[in-house]
Amino acid sequence: MIFDKHYDIVVVGAGPGGSIAAKEAAERGLKVIMLERDREIGIPVRCGEAVGIAGLLEFFAKDHEIVQRYKKKYKIRFIAPNGNILDLNHESEAAVLDRKFFDAELGRLASLAGATVVTMANVTGLIFKDNSVVGVKFLYQGKEHIINSKIVIAADGVESRVGRWAGIKTTPKFNDIESCVQYTMSDIDVEEDRMDFYFGKDIAPTGYLWVFPKDKRTANVGLGINGEYSRKKKAVNYLNSFVKSNFPEGSILNTTCGGVICGETLEKASGNGIMLVGDAAHQTNAISGGGIINAMKAGRLAAEVAASAVRNNDLSEKFLKNYDKKWYKKQGKANHKFYIIKGIIESIDDEVLNKITEELNSKPYAKKTLINIFTRVLLKYPKLILELPKLFG
Ligand SMILES: Cc1cc2nc3c(=O)[nH]c(=O)nc-3n(C[C@H](O)[C@H](O)[C@H](O)COP(=O)(O)OP(=O)(O)OC[C@H]3O[C@@H](n4cnc5c(N)ncnc54)[C@H](O)[C@@H]3O)c2cc1C
Repeated sequence: MIFDKHYDIVVVGAGPGGSIAAKEAAERGLKVIMLERDREIGIPVRCGEAVGIAGLLEFFAKDHEIVQRYKKKYKIRFIAPNGNILDLNHESEAAVLDRKFFDAELGRLASLAGATVVTMANVTGLIFKDNSVVGVKFLYQGKEHIINSKIVIAADGVESRVGRWAGIKTTPKFNDIESCVQYTMSDIDVEEDRMDFYFGKDIAPTGYLWVFPKDKRTANVGLGINGEYSRKKKAVNYLNSFVKSNFPEGSILNTTCGGVICGETLEKASGNGIMLVGDAAHQTNAISGGGIINAMKAGRLAAEVAASAVRNNDLSEKFLKNYDKKWYKKQGKANHKFYIIKGIIESIDDEVLNKITEELNSKPYAKKTLINIFTRVLLKYPKLILELPKLFG
């Protein structure tokens, strides 16, 4: 692999955030290199792989292979702690991706756009000059290399170290870390066009358990629970209990686990010569834990800001702060609200969820909506109404 010593942009990490940043920076005429430590982009998969189609359509035309391959209308089902089922009056146009293919494809698109993509390149440190990030050190094929850059875009995921090396505060609150585990299971009975969400303190305390079908007999079955709870009983033990009772005959094709930061976006995800993107900047949706599309949106914004910074020859923290501002406007403000709602959801106990399911099940299908669930939660916990102004503040 041949690479130069100088690039406009070094992107660290070839997840969805990094690949979109690299692709869009290259499309804007910048000289870009993307460094990925794994031997193959997209592997290992650590994801439930579900995204909304609206999000994908921000990046791909309707007839693009990625949209066509995965797009489906899904019914949604909530299962209350006592096992009662609520078929929601809600249909979601969504996709259960194959991240191995999806991430590799995004990496390929970045390279076709002109970015140099290098795998098995483990970034081990940053280069500084006058308090500014001016490049990276990385290990590649047993040797240390140095690349100088105008801007580093750190898209190195939930365990990001690059931001910390740059002096950016990236430590999440302990309570904001969800411990997630998932099996891809086959030979199980699922409805191909229905996503199931299970709730309850015995199933996934403070979180939820998902069944996202990939086809008629295959699904991603996983859960996320607050780190506090996983200290007492591991997330995998909750999942095993569920699988034993629900899919005892199924095979487990793949096991994946990892942390998801269901908190707020970092207040400051930029510095002199650096921007943080995706999980590295805590940009996941605090309620769902979904971060694929948000990482892509952030990658695009980082590329936009990087292009104007290079054009203006201003790589300062002051200029790159435009990235934080754009993010807040595009998604950060909504994420802040999701974080507040997450706090509300966490305070709902099992009895209330059972009761709400029972009440809505006695109503016609048209009334079984998300908004009606939310309204009933507020009626059961009138104190929560005091929290509402925060949603609009
Ligand atoms: C169990 C589980 C289920 C999930 N389910 C969903 C879901 O259904 N839907 C959804 O939207 N989100 C889901 N998520 C979250 C989603 O996976 C992430 O939000 C998303 O992958 C973030 O993308 P990213 O580009 O920021 O980082 P990542 O996809 O994590 O990519 C980071 C990349 O950086 C590389 N890297 C790290 N350090 C270095 C280094 N030093 N040098 C070079 N490369 C480096 C890594 O190898 C990796 O390839 C789930 C997460 C988990 C753990």
